[in-house]
Amino acid sequence: MTTLFGAIADDFTGATDLAGLLARSGYPVSLRIGVPEEPPQDTSPFEVIALKIRTEPVTDAVAEARAALAWLKRAGAQQYFWKYCSTFDSTPEGNIGPVAEAIMADLGVAQTIYCPAFPENGRAIFMGNLFVGQLPLSESPMKDHPLTPMRDSNLMRLLQPQVRGKVGLIDRLIVAAGAAAIKKACADLAEKNVAHIVVDAVENADLARITEACADMRFLTGGSAIAMPIPQIYAKRGLLAAHEKETTPRDIAPEGVVLSGSCSAMTNAQVARYQSQGRPSFQLDPLSLKARGLQPAMDWLAAQDLAAQPLIYATATPDAVRAAQDQLGKAEAGAIVEAALADLAVAARDQGARRIVVAGGETSGAVTKALRVDRLDIGPEIAAGVPWCFCTSEGQDIALTLKSGNFGAESFFSDAFAKLEDA
Ligand code: ADP
Repeated sequence: MTTLFGAIADDFTGATDLAGLLARSGYPVSLRIGVPEEPPQDTSPFEVIALKIRTEPVTDAVAEARAALAWLKRAGAQQYFWKYCSTFDSTPEGNIGPVAEAIMADLGVAQTIYCPAFPENGRAIFMGNLFVGQLPLSESPMKDHPLTPMRDSNLMRLLQPQVRGKVGLIDRLIVAAGAAAIKKACADLAEKNVAHIVVDAVENADLARITEACADMRFLTGGSAIAMPIPQIYAKRGLLAAHEKETTPRDIAPEGVVLSGSCSAMTNAQVARYQSQGRPSFQLDPLSLKARGLQPAMDWLAAQDLAAQPLIYATATPDAVRAAQDQLGKAEAGAIVEAALADLAVAARDQGARRIVVAGGETSGAVTKALRVDRLDIGPEIAAGVPWCFCTSEGQDIALTLKSGNFGAESFFSDAFAKLEDA
């Protein structure tokens, strides 16, 4: 199938978020982990490439994004998208602006938009200023982010030092006037040589007007939400006529496992809830993994009936995590747990697990790598931003869901398995 839309995301969970929102349309969406080594083959109309370049040095980030763009071009994409965080996470040097300018140069386009708004998640832009809930970005918890502290809320001021071209604004008053007004404003700004346009949006209707106005722009940038209306626009234009909506559930055996390496408050609650539902569970602890190795966990897993979808978790309270980190060091404690969960994922697959739930962003990276998964076809959404994904691992068809820290309801693990029952 020909690819119509090619997206490049600056981190893994951002890519799943975008892929999940595009897949709400029902049309096929594929997510690639890293730039595929193989040339494009059997691609989906919507392709998302997950990179890990949010805080990479600018030259590395630009080189990776250009490689991703080249692959998407070969896949036949007609429109391209650069996805970053809805809180515009970046350092004063980049990488949002430099990557955008490099893609613009490669595509030969003179103008693009920047719209990180995500109204459903409380991210709104007004007069060029980004709000997180009711707080300006610079007063939100993002001001203290360890890697990308955001100390200014004004997107034009944040973007200008990152780019060579001129930055401008299409404000909410223009957006509210509709797609034609937005289009005209883009043309007016083009006459003034404005290459980078920050666009206000405070509600989903704004996003729909903006995507309609920008439907013919070859390159757009933003958070995940601005891309959400795009499949409908393609469908209206008849571009998706050759593509079937995915309606038939995939036939994946029910044997499953939950592997949880996230220690977020929500994941702790999810583990407790799943245990209270009488599911078998086994706790991994970095100190005993260090002392006794993985064999006890492997033995426990081997004795399980995977039809009961057992849980293996390292998830622990902040005090327990700190105690392990004090003894082992933060990096080693994390690495031991990630390696253990990755090996257990492979063992569970070999034992017949075909529905695999993973909790934790870093943990997800370790597990997908161990399972040698490099392509995920997006399936039904379990919770906002967390879809089931279908993939192959060493020749086996499996369903995989990758949940980052605080996503999902307390009942997420059982919700996930239930979702495939009624799929
Ligand atoms: P989240 O999405 O919640 O941030 P991650 O998987 O990205 O979850 O990060 C959790 C990190 O904590 C991982 O590196 C994991 O290996 C580590 N970890 C998990 N359990 C423990 C534990 N009991 N003690 C110390 N570190 C742990």
